[in-house]
Amino acid sequence: MQPTALITGASRGIGRGIALALAARGWSLILNYARQESAARATAQDCHAHALAAGHRIEAHLVAADISSREDRGRLVVRARELAGRCDLLVNNAGIAPTVRADLLEASEESFDQLIATNLKGPYFLTQQVARWMIDTSSVPGIPTRPNPAPRIVFISSISAYTASVNRGDYCLSKAGVAMMTSLFAARLASAGIGVYEIRPGIIATDMTGPVKEKYDRLIQDGLTPIRRWGTPEDIGRAVVAIAEGAFPFSTGEVFNVDGGFHLRQL
Ligand code: NAP
Repeated sequence: MQPTALITGASRGIGRGIALALAARGWSLILNYARQESAARATAQDCHAHALAAGHRIEAHLVAADISSREDRGRLVVRARELAGRCDLLVNNAGIAPTVRADLLEASEESFDQLIATNLKGPYFLTQQVARWMIDTSSVPGIPTRPNPAPRIVFISSISAYTASVNRGDYCLSKAGVAMMTSLFAARLASAGIGVYEIRPGIIATDMTGPVKEKYDRLIQDGLTPIRRWGTPEDIGRAVVAIAEGAFPFSTGEVFNVDGGFHLRQL
């Protein structure tokens, strides 16, 4: 039986890149998105094509749900359980940038609440529910044996977890929180055999970075990242596949920087 992954925010950008990479390795998918149904449909279709090209037949189901809403998270898990019965991998990818990049001394509480609800509270309580599901299905008789016995959870954080950008403090705080969330769930779930990992993307070419493309083009050209190019959703997809396929069985709570070397300090 094929392993199944639940990916949040899989319609576009990094989530789409992760979905395509897993599909090519024969993973069935539950693809969550918020609003952009046509993008989600295109991703599902492309996942099937990637899988077929690699000789796999997979399932790719779409589930619309706003990760910041308690009701939607509940519905997402119920629907995923109906569709797949089991979850071998949860990728907490869905996230937003502030609508307006506002200075720390001006930024609004509305933006703060929205960022924290989507980027921090959403994945926290979704992971709580999915971890319970993973534990339930590993002990219930009658559920087919997992091809890979260790379920895994991945959080997509950001270089903003440790980089102070004073024009989007709410985003930085949410991502610093995701880093601690990784440690917390890793510590709690190790005894259940569930590995938990954090991927910290650098500057990745997606719709999220579209509005600041020229600024980042310049910074990258000037050497902001030792590897002088934009990251791609494929770069993140490769990292998730390595984790998903069990390349790190004696690691948990580990942080993977996929950032062109941005995190290096140099003299
Ligand atoms: P993106 O291109 O804007 O795509 C965002 C995805 O998240 C879309 O699939 C969107 O669904 C979904 N989404 C947004 N709000 C949601 C909600 N409330 N509930 C469920 N899904 C929701 O963003 P991205 O650049 O791929 O970013 C993905 C993740 O990587 C985020 O957590 C982001 O913070 C992180 N990240 C990005 C970068 C970067 O440079 N791009 C760097 C570091 C970290 P719809 O299509 O339905 O709107």
